[in-house]
Amino acid sequence: MAHARMVFPPDFRWGTATAAYQVEGYNRNSDWWPWEQQNGHIRQDHKSAAASNWWENAEADLDRAAEMGTNAHRLSLEWSRIEPEPSVFDDAALDRYRQILQAMHDRGIEPMVTLHHFSNPQWLVEKGDFNTQIVVDYFQRYTARVVNALGDLAPKWVTINEPMVYVFMRYLAGKFPAPRQAGLWPGLQAATNMLRCHAVAYHAIKERRPEAQVGVAKHMAIFEPRHSHSRLERWWAGRLSWLFNDVWLESVATGRLRQPFGRGAINHLAGSFDFVGVNYYSRFFVQLPSRAGVLGPEWEPQSVTGNSDRHSVYPEGIYQIIRHVLRFNKPIYITENGVPDHNDILRPAFLLAHLRQVWRAVSFCYPVMGYYHWSLVDNFEWDRGWTQRFGLIEIDPETQARRWRPSGHLYSEICYSQSISSEMVERYAPELQATLFPGQAP
Ligand code: BGC
Repeated sequence: MAHARMVFPPDFRWGTATAAYQVEGYNRNSDWWPWEQQNGHIRQDHKSAAASNWWENAEADLDRAAEMGTNAHRLSLEWSRIEPEPSVFDDAALDRYRQILQAMHDRGIEPMVTLHHFSNPQWLVEKGDFNTQIVVDYFQRYTARVVNALGDLAPKWVTINEPMVYVFMRYLAGKFPAPRQAGLWPGLQAATNMLRCHAVAYHAIKERRPEAQVGVAKHMAIFEPRHSHSRLERWWAGRLSWLFNDVWLESVATGRLRQPFGRGAINHLAGSFDFVGVNYYSRFFVQLPSRAGVLGPEWEPQSVTGNSDRHSVYPEGIYQIIRHVLRFNKPIYITENGVPDHNDILRPAFLLAHLRQVWRAVSFCYPVMGYYHWSLVDNFEWDRGWTQRFGLIEIDPETQARRWRPSGHLYSEICYSQSISSEMVERYAPELQATLFPGQAP
């Protein structure tokens, strides 16, 4: 049987991604900590507790990441550790982050550092956080402090992770720790203040480290009408896509607010990004009237994955999103992509099918510079606790025992060979052979 290969460029970043609260453990000063202690907030009342034990021993999993053959990792900093009280900065916490970043460099793993990934210091929430403008000065000061302490070890930065998801989950859906004021208007104010925070953080980093690459990680999804003949559903899918995918990022590019967020310009916002980070997971279907009772998106029932209620698999979408963000004329990183799949039934095919679409984009010379799989190890999946497992490596949160999933071995083969081969598809996901490598050997 002849073997074929889809080969990636030699300088492609093969990464994984995690977030501080989800892996570090015992982040007692975060707004998530008291929230998860109250029953009813987290599915099955799970607790993050030691999470994936990274505060104690990130190095052990970084050894695994290096063994896997990755050369990049996206992680986040926990603001509530670094500034546990207003204006009180914890140098020991910053030292620990230095150790972790140094451990990555020692293993040939390039860090991409996220400043805000869904978690706030409790004191900030008491002051009103993202729906008041006071957050902007605090965020600037936190960023400056962090870059002074860690800047030499961090070539790439993400200011804010998934602003629209954050606003939706916290201000509208009530699934994330409650803000002082919830609802549509505070949510819109929060999205706008996140733009302001992004702008000040971008410049705080660049003033200190002009060579650093700074961007955002934007969740992008495909929205389609359930009935393609319905003009109303097509129109609504387009509006939702614009609202969720485009409007925030367009403001970063132009420096101007768009309705419904407001009008006018934000100082120093225009063009404040060196790359576009895309978090891609899923496709939504829009049906009117919606069975969910709101004008919201729904899942395509057939493709909802085994143990998730929020993800439906659509690999072609990652290619469509890459094409969609080409207009910004910036390098593109896939800063997250993954699937919750405890038994690793779907993940090998998921990985191959999505990377095949990334390869397709790279082959057209679209500037996709790297791929960060969510996630290296199982971790605390926010409001869904430990019920959703995204790791290439499985963790038993009780014992902290690790076990490589088959997809971990597959990703390792991909990273070392910097390619996808027909032979890998044969071994890990033979059902994809006809789509990925349809030719017959002579
Ligand atoms: C978030 C991660 C999360 C992942 C899987 C992304 O929206 O950035 O923190 O774990 O999705 O749900």
